[in-house]
Amino acid sequence: MPSVLLATFKPFNKIAVDGIEKICKDNGLTFGKIEGYKTQEELYSAAESAEACIVRSDKLDEEFFNRAKNLKIVVRAGAGVDTIDLDAASKHHVVVENTPGQNANAVAEMVFALLIAMKRNHFDATSGREIRGSTLGLYGCGNVSRAMIEVSKGFAMKCYSYDPFLSDEQIKECGAEPLHDLKELFKCDIVSLHVPATPQTINSINEDLMSLMPENGVLVDAARSEVIDEDSVISIFQKRPDLGYISDVGFTKIDELREKIGAAQLKKQLIVTPKKMGAQTLESNVNAGLTAIKQISAYFKDGSTIHQVNGKAF
Ligand code: NAD
Repeated sequence: MPSVLLATFKPFNKIAVDGIEKICKDNGLTFGKIEGYKTQEELYSAAESAEACIVRSDKLDEEFFNRAKNLKIVVRAGAGVDTIDLDAASKHHVVVENTPGQNANAVAEMVFALLIAMKRNHFDATSGREIRGSTLGLYGCGNVSRAMIEVSKGFAMKCYSYDPFLSDEQIKECGAEPLHDLKELFKCDIVSLHVPATPQTINSINEDLMSLMPENGVLVDAARSEVIDEDSVISIFQKRPDLGYISDVGFTKIDELREKIGAAQLKKQLIVTPKKMGAQTLESNVNAGLTAIKQISAYFKDGSTIHQVNGKAF
């Protein structure tokens, strides 16, 4: 009976955990879990006998793969796999998969909630602005962007997207107008980033681009902190008090920004969540967790490696 370990320092919702355990039982897999662990050592020793592992943002480094001698497959319940050492996994012939799209709607709903909160001045009894009819520019046209397009329909928005990995036809099918220059995207009223952190995207959003935004433009990063150059935000905010920035990926230089623009202006221009709130819903938890265990069951049943992210050949 292959053994599955659910290893999450930030535990799943109980409904998701119970569902994972049930699917294990139904498919002849033994189930174990380590939740809320405090040290990497706890994780390493729990994984020593596991043949499959479900993780969230847990750090799977080289030592993890050295120690998990029986491991055949890891599924990241979520999209980003930058917390997993993919080279080490491949070296040890471990399949790594993610569960793309399962939290996309949760992220999109959060982005719209925060956009409205910003445009309505946090409902502070003053008059705000509506987002209906705004143009929406999407950096990347993957799962989250597609969910953004779906939600944007209710606000009669025109969507644009820059994604050089997709054809114009594919972007149009998603409901967005394709753009071929990132600069064009920054003519939109709202620019929302939904790309992975790659050598091409890291620090790709800078002051030159932000300065192209129309009056009262809002930039959103619910993807990865590395994509934005924080110094550029600090610099552009001093010149453009009309712009807004919404971050679900933290803002490390917030004290510096407050010092430069003042607390009142900071509140107006910036919303920072407690980091990665986008996927924090019951539905997203359950979707990602159950999809992860279904992918593991399929792997043990017929060798299926759908959504493998570390290459087919080791
Ligand atoms: P996805 O893989 O479905 O889509 C990413 C898209 O980005 C793809 O279409 C890809 O072609 C495109 N892309 C890659 N490099 C690009 C480049 N240089 N220029 C333009 N487009 C490029 O991923 P997703 O599920 O939509 O997630 C998008 C991002 O959001 C990821 O960074 C993911 O980690 C993050 N995310 C964050 C949360 C959260 O809690 N805030 C939740 C889910 C996903």
